[in-house]
Amino acid sequence: MNDKTLPRRALLKGALGLAAIPVVAAVATAEAQAQAAKPAGGAALPRLDPNSPQAKALAYVHDGSQIDRKAHPNFKPDQKCNNCIHWTGKPTDPWAGCNLFPGRSVAGPGWCRVWAKKP
Ligand code: SF4
Repeated sequence: MNDKTLPRRALLKGALGLAAIPVVAAVATAEAQAQAAKPAGGAALPRLDPNSPQAKALAYVHDGSQIDRKAHPNFKPDQKCNNCIHWTGKPTDPWAGCNLFPGRSVAGPGWCRVWAKKP
């Protein structure tokens, strides 16, 4: 290996790495566009991970009956995502979008601390 080979290789590797950035950005954009094209109810959206920081911040759970009642004394058993004002699906949908978790779906029997009765 001569002294000129290594910098050329390093430059080539760097150039290939930079070339990958637009590809990653294009994939992310395509995914965002695909999400925007999903049904209004959000049933086809990826499910919200209850362990994600956003879900934990609002104490979201997939099943409200499993909630820690001492930690959430205001919870009532009839409070469910599918009768919450923020639910974007039909009441019978098992999963649907939530205005507070854009790009994700939440479970019909789910619950979080900002539940508010759908009028
Ligand atoms: S805001 Fe309503 S629909 Fe959204 S996660 Fe909380 S309880 Fe469920």
